[in-house]
Amino acid sequence: APQVHADKTYTIGTDVTFPPFVYANSNNKYVGIDMELIRSIAKEEGFKVNIKPLGFNAAVQSLSSGQIDGVIAGMTITNERKQTLDFSTPYYESGIVMAVAKNSKISNLKDLKGKTVAVKTGTQGATYANSIKNKYGFKVVTFDDSDNVYNDVKTGNSAACFDDSAVLNYGVKTGLGLKIVTKPTDIGQYGFAVKKGQNQKLLKMFNAGLAKLKKNGKYDQIIKKYTGKKA
Ligand code: GLN
Repeated sequence: APQVHADKTYTIGTDVTFPPFVYANSNNKYVGIDMELIRSIAKEEGFKVNIKPLGFNAAVQSLSSGQIDGVIAGMTITNERKQTLDFSTPYYESGIVMAVAKNSKISNLKDLKGKTVAVKTGTQGATYANSIKNKYGFKVVTFDDSDNVYNDVKTGNSAACFDDSAVLNYGVKTGLGLKIVTKPTDIGQYGFAVKKGQNQKLLKMFNAGLAKLKKNGKYDQIIKKYTGKKA
């Protein structure tokens, strides 16, 4: 009898709000660079994806405990994360910047003395803030979603936030109400991740698909669509 070929479905965790990489559009569909990349790669390589917008930290935790197959969420490839996760070839680059409310007088790290800084749980921005908080004398508050981080700064509860330059640059351009006051530091690369030693076929397909999208112009097209810039 002829064999019916059914594409395998992988469950992919992602962030809730991290534009231009992942966010819900007005039809409540998850769009952005990461969403278009994973969907295009799946199409190219012949697999299906079930996207789960769990939030950044929850997605990484779910991946580490084997509840989902992969994560694409503007996640920086770090040596620490490589202890528990395997990463794809990099697909984007970003550093960390400090942002303050548009009308704020805070303009550098020294101005943070005695103030509160907002970050998102489990991110490189949070790691960076915690690594310098004693030196500059500020307190750190964490939120699970970038929206709440930015709102805490806009309402004045927090004097500043630390987050990815690629995301805050986009935010500034799209009317987030914040301004960036430092140069990017801790430059890193974004990668798709699977649990260490697991889902190696998925990882290989991601890399192969990404290479094809880079070759056929689709990658450039996606980057241009969301950033207005050439890749
Ligand atoms: N790139 C940052 C990190 O990996 C932030 C990711 C995110 O907030 N989705 O920690």
